Amino acid sequence: MILGPPSLGRLAESLLKLPGIGKKTAERLALYIFKMPEEDASTLAEAIIEVKRRTRLCSVCCNVTEDDPCPICDDETRDEALLCIVEQPGDVIALERTGQFRGHYHVLQGALSPLDGVGPEQLRVAELMPRLQSGKVREVILATNPNVEGEATALYLAKLIKPMGMTVTRIARGIPVGSDLDFADEVTLARALDGRQSV
Ligand SMILES: [Zn+2]
Repeated sequence: MILGPPSLGRLAESLLKLPGIGKKTAERLALYIFKMPEEDASTLAEAIIEVKRRTRLCSVCCNVTEDDPCPICDDETRDEALLCIVEQPGDVIALERTGQFRGHYHVLQGALSPLDGVGPEQLRVAELMPRLQSGKVREVILATNPNVEGEATALYLAKLIKPMGMTVTRIARGIPVGSDLDFADEVTLARALDGRQSV
């Protein structure tokens, strides 16, 4: 329970639900918002509502989008034969920033984590299957994070996809083990993509 005026407490309790935000930080942010000019605070509140109202998951790649299909799925200049599988929308942004990849993506919206109750059914694997069965994909690049959950997910997908006759590759280990893809710098990420290996 956070002390202070009820409205400030409610804001702090809401902020506490965000990842990486502890009680102290939540209180500090709530007080910061209290001190913000009214216009900035309104912009922030509206931006949160807009995101919830306008965005959804692309019905093809499961990335976050306002249009369905998303601009990447809709881009005919991109190579349909290359499909890069990532965990989160942030990973697509990171890979796009490298400017090195002109294929398509599939966003799992997570990684396998049996201890947290995340199995294949909780990931966007069902949406992946028709894409793999379309006959258009030649190579699947597994670009899940280089940590325990990401490796387990890559292994699971490799076993699932290889019998379907496609080349399956894993991005190279330029990325520090245990880290997140969207924290890697562009050069490291571009090299990891370039140096991908068959699994
Ligand atoms: Zn899409």
